Amino acid sequence: MDNSGHETAQGSGVSEHAMPAPHWTDTDLDTLRAKFYQLHIAVEQSPAATAITDTEGRIEYVNQRFLEVTGYSREELIGKTPAMIQSGMTPESVYRELWQALRSGQVWRGELQNRKKNGELYWEAETITPVRDDSGRIVRFVAVKEDITERKHQEEELRLLASVFQTGQATLITDPEMRIERVNQAFTDITGYLPEEVIGQTPRLFKSGHHDKTFYSQLWRSVLETGHWQGEIWNRNKYGDIYPLWQSITAVHDQAGNVRHFIAVFHNIAERKRLEEELEQQATRDHLTGAHNRRAFDSAMRMAVRQAERSDTTFSLLLFDVDRFKSVNDQHGHETGDVVLNRLAALVSQTLRSTDLLARWGGEEFAILLQETSAQGGAVFAERLRQQVEETRLHGLAVTISLGIAEYRRGDSAEEILARADGALYWAKRSGRNRVGFTDAHS
Ligand code: GH3
Ligand code: MG
Ligand code: MG
Repeated sequence: MDNSGHETAQGSGVSEHAMPAPHWTDTDLDTLRAKFYQLHIAVEQSPAATAITDTEGRIEYVNQRFLEVTGYSREELIGKTPAMIQSGMTPESVYRELWQALRSGQVWRGELQNRKKNGELYWEAETITPVRDDSGRIVRFVAVKEDITERKHQEEELRLLASVFQTGQATLITDPEMRIERVNQAFTDITGYLPEEVIGQTPRLFKSGHHDKTFYSQLWRSVLETGHWQGEIWNRNKYGDIYPLWQSITAVHDQAGNVRHFIAVFHNIAERKRLEEELEQQATRDHLTGAHNRRAFDSAMRMAVRQAERSDTTFSLLLFDVDRFKSVNDQHGHETGDVVLNRLAALVSQTLRSTDLLARWGGEEFAILLQETSAQGGAVFAERLRQQVEETRLHGLAVTISLGIAEYRRGDSAEEILARADGALYWAKRSGRNRVGFTDAHS
């Protein structure tokens, strides 16, 4: 907007109109009228809201745009002061400075938040010019205002985005070719990279080798087709460490639908994963030996029974108990007994296939679920295990175990197999210990 133009036009227009010389001819007056009319329509049709006040600030004139912006009628405004459109949101000091400038004859420029008749707030950039008469006395003020509400909202939004960008999760913004344009402090905290080390590069810099081509092509297909992807991704930081992130990638489009940016937001989930694993461990493992606990064993047994019912496969259950363990405790102390149990579990674990499951059944008694194993296969395994324990010193001590084995029979419940294995173990103990008892041997 051309404020200087307004100042000159208004200034001369008002002063000439206000004080016509008495000796002017009709032609002079015609010229004056024509000039006044030109100025009048120019101001009336101006897109800038315009007001003229007297030196006390009482409104003498407002243009059409002023009425449209404020929602008031001319009748409501004339004779009032602009206080009626003040919002109460602008600090008093702004008005003090405004009046100080105007009274000393200076032009005031500033931004004010005002209120329309319907209560709505809006922002104006305002220029107020003192108008002098021929003798140089200030006789009026002309205010020309431009609505800047939209700009103010955009500024506010940008400020908000900037604060989210700086305080939030690690964020990376790229151009459509995936060249990094901006990163924030949280990004540097996680990756170790300073902005100047990554800007202009592509996120391929962070590839860890943990994912295959298909992973990345599915990821980008999702981003391009749905505008979004989120999931777990393993990246490499500046120092070569590989760590898991939870990352979301969003495509930002322009109005024509073209991708303008990609935004990746992520946080490190290494700690969360560690905690999850620890919780999982606590829930399913025995603390002393690291073997599965009874609850984990029960659910594995139920699954094995269901699996055997459905398919034509079988499985075997092995129970074993340390022989004369009371005397180990008595001679070497309970703590040594604990270490022996821990070493025993470790020894057994080494002999198992990955599908078999070792659980601490209670005390110094353990159970092993042998998947897809018949009684014969189980017997071979049990005998080898018995020998291995006999031949291995555990924490410097020689111990033996007695074992009982039972194979799944069609229609068995978990309790029935357990009872048979327990019977076999009882037989092994009664028959002298350090031996394998079979279901069929005593039943
Ligand atoms: P056997 O089985 O050969 O009949 O004799 P045993 O002496 O092993 O007798 P039993 O199995 O009935 O007794 C188990 C003993 O194991 C009782 C207890 O003192 C000991 N025990 C059970 N749980 C633990 C444990 O967690 N730590 C230690 N140190 N000892 C345990
Ligand atoms: Mg025992
Ligand atoms: Mg026992």
